[in-house]
Amino acid sequence: LFLTGALCAQTPVQQHGHLSVAGNRIVDSSGSSVSFAGMSLFWSNTGWGGEAFYNPSAVHSMRNDWGVKVIRAAMGVEDPGGYLQDPSNKAKVESVVQAAIQEGIYVIIDWHSHHAENYESQAITFFTDMANQFGHLPNVIYEIYNEPLGGVSWSQTVKPYAENVIDAIRAIDPDNLIIVGSPTWSQDVDVASQDPITGSANIAYALHFYAETHTGSLRQKALVALNNGIALFVTEWGSVNAWATGSVAYQSVSEWMQFLCEHKISHCNWALNDKQEAASALIPGVAPTGGWSASELTASGALAKSIIESWDAVCPAVAAPATMIRLGSPLNPNALL
Ligand code: MG
Repeated sequence: LFLTGALCAQTPVQQHGHLSVAGNRIVDSSGSSVSFAGMSLFWSNTGWGGEAFYNPSAVHSMRNDWGVKVIRAAMGVEDPGGYLQDPSNKAKVESVVQAAIQEGIYVIIDWHSHHAENYESQAITFFTDMANQFGHLPNVIYEIYNEPLGGVSWSQTVKPYAENVIDAIRAIDPDNLIIVGSPTWSQDVDVASQDPITGSANIAYALHFYAETHTGSLRQKALVALNNGIALFVTEWGSVNAWATGSVAYQSVSEWMQFLCEHKISHCNWALNDKQEAASALIPGVAPTGGWSASELTASGALAKSIIESWDAVCPAVAAPATMIRLGSPLNPNALL
């Protein structure tokens, strides 16, 4: 069985093309349900440290060394050093988006806010610019509200904000995926599913979990959401607790990954950063330009890398056309997509 190198050297975006929402699934341009594994960058805020990883070399390493199909640029908004105070945060995001386009991977442009309803006009200005620059490309995914807090109303506060920002994006970009957060740090997807956004297509909902803190009861909420017909995207998950501390909860992570594969949900691990905290993928002081050795990974980073690099084999696209196998994969029937 001979396959040309050119065919199998396809990038993820060449392979999967434009993403859209079909029922409670995210599908690629051939209509196959896809689940992508990737990493989230840390807050972009100036002076917080994580911004050093917003560079093309780090994105290349994520693709080349870890095999990510998606990377998330988490642009801080209202917090110190964020976009509202320092507009240069936008250039950091743009550098990651351009690198992702170069690498042929998907990229999430995340408005990393806990109070986005207070900055709606700024969000509209920002996402209008992003849509004008990148909305014609299949790579780009908009995430318009990272994590609304607990106690904020979905129907009265988050949904109206989301609809206004979505309308602004859709005026320019009619089709790219838009991901919306939900109250309680993007856990109340069940609540959102009872009053979903219906005025626009290709809307998905963020589901966030930290494996030591969140277990079966959050998966039950996710099931309610799926059963109500909305699509989910785990734009952020941690292997540790919700405070980004503690230790890696291996068993819980395993249960979550089975769930995500079963329901074809994509996921980005928090976070590609070297801050001294358990959720960081890298140990303090590493070069920000990639090529990290095993000894430069934390326990969380090592687990995230192992999940990401094996994800295609663990969780292949469903009902993909029979066109190719991945070079380097063991030849088995499941590898014949
Ligand atoms: Mg578009």
